Amino acid sequence: MDLRFEPEDVEFREAARTWLAANVPSERRPEDGKAMRDFDNAWQRTQFDGGWAGVSWPTQYGGLGLPIVRQLIWYEEYARAGAPYTGSTFPAVFYGGPTLALRGTDEQRSRHLPRILRGEEIWSQGFSEPSAGSDLASVRTRARVDGDHLVVSGQKVWSSYADIADFHFCLFRTNPDAPKREGLSWVLVPLDTPGIEVRRIKTLARNHHFCEVFYDNVRVPLDNVVGGVDNGWTVAMNTLGFERGSAFLTEQLELSMTLDELIALCRARPSRSGHGSAFDDESVAAELAELRASVTALRAMSYRTVSKSAHGELPGPEGSIIRLYFAELRQQLATLAMRVLDTDGLEFTPYWESGWSGQWLWDFARTVGAGTSEIQRNIIGDRFLGLPR
Ligand SMILES: Cc1cc2nc3c(=O)[nH]c(=O)nc-3n(C[C@H](O)[C@H](O)[C@H](O)COP(=O)(O)OP(=O)(O)OC[C@H]3O[C@@H](n4cnc5c(N)ncnc54)[C@H](O)[C@@H]3O)c2cc1C
Repeated sequence: MDLRFEPEDVEFREAARTWLAANVPSERRPEDGKAMRDFDNAWQRTQFDGGWAGVSWPTQYGGLGLPIVRQLIWYEEYARAGAPYTGSTFPAVFYGGPTLALRGTDEQRSRHLPRILRGEEIWSQGFSEPSAGSDLASVRTRARVDGDHLVVSGQKVWSSYADIADFHFCLFRTNPDAPKREGLSWVLVPLDTPGIEVRRIKTLARNHHFCEVFYDNVRVPLDNVVGGVDNGWTVAMNTLGFERGSAFLTEQLELSMTLDELIALCRARPSRSGHGSAFDDESVAAELAELRASVTALRAMSYRTVSKSAHGELPGPEGSIIRLYFAELRQQLATLAMRVLDTDGLEFTPYWESGWSGQWLWDFARTVGAGTSEIQRNIIGDRFLGLPR
């Protein structure tokens, strides 16, 4: 690993900190629907106008074209400033857009990337289906080539933000006769195309951004295929590489602040023994110390990934290690908070307002989204440790 901050990086950090301090919105981010979309787009636009959107994206598509280390610094400062959760802009800005930048044609890049950075286009990911989640290669939604179009029929599920998005980037089966991974295509579908129906799914954590998306003979131009017909598996692997690796950097970096909040909670709550605060309880203090060490280790792993990218390597399977470690760490943190809160934890406090019970509920989802913990362990065993499948 070789990651040093040069004097210009330090200057960049100071400029980012100053800009964020002056521009982070003070109003609460709406947690749902069109109001949320408008807020997320407006905040993305503010970053673009301020000259901070797409730090490492190519300049010809509206980015700043700066080294990946500066992107890391931006994320660190973003987390530090308590800037809004990226929300509905997340799929396009953090992994859909980077996939297009890597695998799209010049025409596709010029059409979409600047609009994403300006907060004019929201994307939703349509990979999962009722019988294709962990086993993504089992995707069944059929896309038949008909002249210069695909005709799509089938169902997607768990598509975050599909109810408010403009585009759905999907994995479809274009060749049912080819081996599972060879007959798939990565396609960007305008969600206002006739034949598409979006239904929202409600969750226990009371956020409603999950959707089912139904396709009934939907005609999509072949120009919207990214990476070539029947070549979608390798494109999807790039998407997952970004999603598991760099996309969650801000949240990983935020974890240190969440731990500070947990320590403050432990100091404020009484100990179960009746003497002093929960913080004075030896087992709580030991767990907090362990959490601090783990959060520091996570940051070192994130730096390592960034350092690899800085040397030209694409995000690969090591994203699984970080994703697994991060998701389980978050659960451990929220579980300790719930223990300290005791019966007060039974009251629902939304995670989007940093409420602990809401975070605890939502943290279950973190060991499922972007691949479950079991799947990440399979990848680690298979790709790193060389264990038999
Ligand atoms: C917060 C969140 C956001 C999401 N956003 C999106 C989105 O925007 N777009 C999208 O397409 N999808 C999205 N998903 C869906 C997500 O990708 C899937 O839920 C995930 O891949 C698991 O698939 P599944 O739910 O079908 O579970 P299944 O694959 O049915 O798995 C069920 C259980 O079996 C275990 N299992 C399965 N196979 C194996 C195996 N080979 N070895 C060991 N254990 C195994 C799993 O670990 C799990 O515990 C999101 C999910 C969450 C939680």
